[in-house]
Amino acid sequence: MKYVDEYRDPVAAKALLRRIEELAEKLEKPLAFMEICGGHTHTIYRHGLEHLLPKNVELIHGPGCPVCVIPLGRVDDAGWLARQPGVIFTTFGDMMRVPGTGGSLQQAKAQGCDIRFVYSPLDALQIARENPDHEVVFFAVGFETTAPSTAVALDRAIKENLDNFSIFCNHVRIEPPLRAILGMDQGRINGFIGPGHVATIVGTKAFEFIPREYNLPVVVTGFEPLDILQAVEMLLEQYVSGDVAAGDARVENQYARVVLPEGNVAALALMDKVFVRRETFEWRGLGFIPDSGFAVAPEYEKYDAEKRFHLPNLRVADPPACQCGEVLTGQIKPWQCSVFGTACTPANPVGTCMVSPEGACAAYYNFGRVD
Ligand code: SF4
Repeated sequence: MKYVDEYRDPVAAKALLRRIEELAEKLEKPLAFMEICGGHTHTIYRHGLEHLLPKNVELIHGPGCPVCVIPLGRVDDAGWLARQPGVIFTTFGDMMRVPGTGGSLQQAKAQGCDIRFVYSPLDALQIARENPDHEVVFFAVGFETTAPSTAVALDRAIKENLDNFSIFCNHVRIEPPLRAILGMDQGRINGFIGPGHVATIVGTKAFEFIPREYNLPVVVTGFEPLDILQAVEMLLEQYVSGDVAAGDARVENQYARVVLPEGNVAALALMDKVFVRRETFEWRGLGFIPDSGFAVAPEYEKYDAEKRFHLPNLRVADPPACQCGEVLTGQIKPWQCSVFGTACTPANPVGTCMVSPEGACAAYYNFGRVD
C-alpha cells in the first residue's frame, strides 16, 4: 500500500538502524528524545522500536495523547451535561470509557442517558438537524489536530442558525504544555520527535521556539516505523555534527510529504474565527497552564455548552494511585506506576493513559513492553 509499505521496509529499517548505531557510538553522553504525540508512542511500542535502539539513546513519552490530558473535573462535567433532560450527548468513542468520579459515559449510557459516539463533529451536527426537539452537545477534545473539524461543524451550525447544537469545548494547544515540561525539565530531554498531525495544522514554524529558546533539536515526524527511525537519526545528526554544541539546534521536517512550514492556513483562520484562547486551562497531571485551551468565541456563545447549560465547572483531584501526570511528563515509564496492569488495565482503567490506544500505558500494556 502506497505510503505504508515503503515506510515499513525491513531492509531500509536495518540500514537506518546501522546509521543510528554509528552515530550513537560518537555520542559523548546518553541522549533522551521525547516523542510528543501519542500516535508516535503507539507506533514505537507496536513495532518494538525502543528495543532496537542503542542503549545510549532513550525515548520518553510526552503529553500528546488528547484523551490522556483531560482532567477528571472535565470528565465529570461531561457526565453532568449528558444527564441533563432532553440532551443527546455526542462524543468520540475513546471518551466513552474515561472513568469519572460517578463512572464513565459508557456507564451513564447504560443507565439510560442518550449518549452517542460519533466519528466526526459533523455527525453530531447531523444528529442535531434530525432531532430538533433535543439539545445536541458535542464533547470536543483534542489538540490543534482535531480542533479544525470542530470549527467546521460550529461554522456550519452558525450559518444554518441551528438552535439545538452546542460544543463542550476542551480543545487544547500544544505549545503551552511543551513550555511547561521544558520549564520543569532538569536536562533530561535532549530533543523532540515532533507531532506530525498537529504540525499539519500549526506548521513546523510553531516549534521553532524550542531550538531558539532551549537549543534543543526538533524533528517533525510521520507515524510509520521508518519515519520514527529516520527522526532519531536526524536528531542524532544534529548532536554528532556539533550543531547543538555550537548553539545551532533547529527544527527539521521529516514529514515533508504532509507538513508545510506554515501549516494549514485555512484551518487556522477558521479556528481564529470561532474560538478564543482561554486565560488558563486544567491539564491532567500538569495543573492549570495559561493560554493552553480554546473556548467558543463570545459572539457565538449560544453554541457554547458551558454557557448554555451553566456548567458546574467541577475541579476534582486525580485518584491518589493515578500517576498519569508523571507518565505524561516523561518522569516515569508506565510500568513504574504502582497500579499498572493490576488495578489499572484497558478493561478497567484507573487513569486516562490506559484508555486511549494512544495512551502510553495502553501501548505498554497492549504490546507487552515492560522494560
Ligand atoms: Fe494512570 Fe493507570 Fe497509567 Fe497508572 S497505569 S499512570 S493510573 S493510566
